[in-house]
Amino acid sequence: MGPSTPEAAVEHPEAVRQLHREFLRAGSDVMQAFTFYASDDKLQNRGYINSKTLTSKVINTAACAIAREVANEGGALVAGGVSQTPTYLSGKGKGFTQKEFQKQMSVFMENKVDFLIAEYFEHIEEAEWATEVCKATGLPVATTLCIGPDGDLHGVSTGECAVRLVKAGADIVGINCHFDPTTNLAAIRKMKTALDAAGLKVHLMTQPLAYHTPDVNKQGFIDLPEFPFSLEPRVCTRWEIQAYAREAYKMGVRYIGGCCGFEPYHIRAISEELAPERGFLPPGSEKHAPWGDGLRLHTKPWVRARARRSYWGNLKPASGRPFSASLSTSDSWGVTAGDQELEQKTDSTTDEELKSLFSHSENST
Ligand SMILES: [Zn+2]
Repeated sequence: MGPSTPEAAVEHPEAVRQLHREFLRAGSDVMQAFTFYASDDKLQNRGYINSKTLTSKVINTAACAIAREVANEGGALVAGGVSQTPTYLSGKGKGFTQKEFQKQMSVFMENKVDFLIAEYFEHIEEAEWATEVCKATGLPVATTLCIGPDGDLHGVSTGECAVRLVKAGADIVGINCHFDPTTNLAAIRKMKTALDAAGLKVHLMTQPLAYHTPDVNKQGFIDLPEFPFSLEPRVCTRWEIQAYAREAYKMGVRYIGGCCGFEPYHIRAISEELAPERGFLPPGSEKHAPWGDGLRLHTKPWVRARARRSYWGNLKPASGRPFSASLSTSDSWGVTAGDQELEQKTDSTTDEELKSLFSHSENST
């Protein structure tokens, strides 16, 4: 999360390799290179100190090599990915924004990825610019926005966003991040309706959070007071993810995955739910019998009594937090592209600047 994760492909390749392997064993069909937020402008943002040596090129190259190595162990595809840029949020325009994407694209082409993902865009305009750059490579392009049913942050409806992405060249369109599975699918439904009405035929893609977010506003979970370091009480169970996978499939979505909060066991839940359609269970299900059936081996009889689908499918899990509310009040600063606060800045945020943010935060609660 933030500017300081993508360099793990260089600094801790074994950890990234192991993570890919866990998702492969869980049934993932795609190894998405660990290139999220790995554009040079993002790496140089707000005091990140390694960006002189760990450039976009170095990090993206390392990430592609690891993704390919693990994909080859299980017949998966490799995708290179680009995401929203500080350049766009700073209002620097199309030329500069596309240049950041192009630098990543040349690494993806050198490393022969199978297709491209442009993801996590809050503004349809930037997503279109990213899609155009991806499309120019000749590879298939999947583009996702991190918006909900209420449209992008400039007021373009979710349905209209989908239509514009297809016109910009996307072969697959959808929603990733920011919202829980239920809200994500409500947004996908709007995309599908608008695409059908426009007579456009493309595949749909869904990668929601694995956090429950019924209380968010238009900006999604980043506005929740628990973001990003106390979201754990909101994590979806594997059974909730199975239900999501089924609903997405019924809706006609064929690229079904997850974003923040998803662990390999969540992806395995998707693989297990869709095993009848896919025709196989993933290697990670070898010791995980569906719907708790493995509990028939349990020592305690009351736990053996839970070895059935009706038990796990109907459970309402407790949070165990007597002083927690079920919902939070979101921050709503209304800051978006074009606002001075979002301008690209290489220096770290100063104590003085933080002080002013703290007082803004206290006054708004
Ligand atoms: Zn995410």
